[in-house]
Amino acid sequence: MYKGRISEIFKSIQGEGPYLGISQVFVRFYGCNLDCTYCDTRQIYFKEMSVEEVKSNVYNYQDYHSISITGGEPLLQVDFLMELLPQFKQDKKLIYLETNGVLYQNLKKIISWVDIIAMDFKLPSSCGSQNLFIQHRYFLEEALKRETFIKVVITPSTNEEELVEVFSIARSIRPEIIFVLQPQHPYEEALKERIGYFSDLGRIYLPNIRVIPQMHKILGVR
Ligand code: SF4
Repeated sequence: MYKGRISEIFKSIQGEGPYLGISQVFVRFYGCNLDCTYCDTRQIYFKEMSVEEVKSNVYNYQDYHSISITGGEPLLQVDFLMELLPQFKQDKKLIYLETNGVLYQNLKKIISWVDIIAMDFKLPSSCGSQNLFIQHRYFLEEALKRETFIKVVITPSTNEEELVEVFSIARSIRPEIIFVLQPQHPYEEALKERIGYFSDLGRIYLPNIRVIPQMHKILGVR
């Protein structure tokens, strides 16, 4: 029996992407394999919890659309997810996975229990990472066995050529995929023009480009 390293479990609204505003219970997994400069979910605390403990915390809540498996990077704890997710599915829960879109081999192990995948593409110019586009490509090919959308965070340093490369990768795999451009800060003046420009640019490659800020930051909720 594995134990999960869990930072928090709480009910709130989904603040990002096309499922913006739906009610979810969030299970936040501790730890990440990346170190994005704009990260706002670095955690210093976790509790080791059994599958039963996580379930009982989640089932304290009622009336929600789905359970968000989030982080950090939840796929780092794939062995624990392989025990937890089948139990949620047995109880007819909808599973929404939020991931940085890199650990495709771990995704393969749990995808049969996942319903919706919110997948990041990390641009080196935005998040200070190495180029992860090959891993993202493999990840997307696997993720598309389920409902999936892509999210890219746009910062003042986002590089146009990198973004075009990501648009091209998405078009080569699933042209109709929902592709979200998420401004790093909803009120940042420097991003307003760029986000409009990038949105127009994206539509040359993909019909489903959407600009969606993080609503939980605007509303001041978790
Ligand atoms: S992948 Fe997400 S959780 Fe990990 S460092 Fe980047 S923003 Fe933070």
